[in-house]
Amino acid sequence: MPHRAAGYNHVIFHESGGLYSVEVSARRFAILYGEDGYLVHTNHFLDDTMKAIEKDPEELIASRVRYFRALRLVKQESAHTIKTLQAIQRDHVNFTNSICNHATDLKDPLDREKTINALIIDLTAREMHLAWGNPCKNPYHRYHLDA
Ligand SMILES: [Zn+2]
Repeated sequence: MPHRAAGYNHVIFHESGGLYSVEVSARRFAILYGEDGYLVHTNHFLDDTMKAIEKDPEELIASRVRYFRALRLVKQESAHTIKTLQAIQRDHVNFTNSICNHATDLKDPLDREKTINALIIDLTAREMHLAWGNPCKNPYHRYHLDA
């Protein structure tokens, strides 16, 4: 959409195996493809053209820490299950910069990060597993996606 004020990362996937991550800023976008059957993304740009517009990449060090931790965990398993993916989302290694983020740094109330939900979509079973809030403290609820 033109004239947008900001952008986010959008993950688009299909049961045929297509897996895309669309990085969006206010004026640009880039498309990443999950060539090996997986794709990891956190809160910083991965595409080189998008990295060029980041004002202060050092503000996003925590995002990079989470990215490399998640990438390592994703690559450790050859065949993930809902349980192994939930374990990644509940991971606390590198706390306070862990994948499951608890907003422990309360110095600046306008600059806090926290996990607001954890989501896993199983396209084979056509189910969505969703935990509201931190997945280490809240149960996953299963939603059936069949029409
Ligand atoms: Zn947690």
